[in-house]
Amino acid sequence: MTTLGFVRWTLRPDKDEDAPPLTYAFRCLTLAAADDTECDAKSPTSTDPTEPQTWAFDHLRAHPEHTSYAEVIERPWVMWREGPA
Ligand SMILES: [Zn+2]
Repeated sequence: MTTLGFVRWTLRPDKDEDAPPLTYAFRCLTLAAADDTECDAKSPTSTDPTEPQTWAFDHLRAHPEHTSYAEVIERPWVMWREGPA
């Protein structure tokens, strides 16, 4: 909790009905042998956590040496005003 002026703000995960959805994506972390940069391929973002995993298997089929991935999760948060306006 942080006080800015006389208003107290709390940051919390946004679980309201109209909150943006939790989304998932996978990206490839495999380094290219040539210049040591990441492959940078990324799955489409999905609200279904299993869909990006399917993308990873497809990516592996296309690039059999790409075996390192990161899951990118976007979780909505919201600032909640507690004090007087
Ligand atoms: Zn890759």
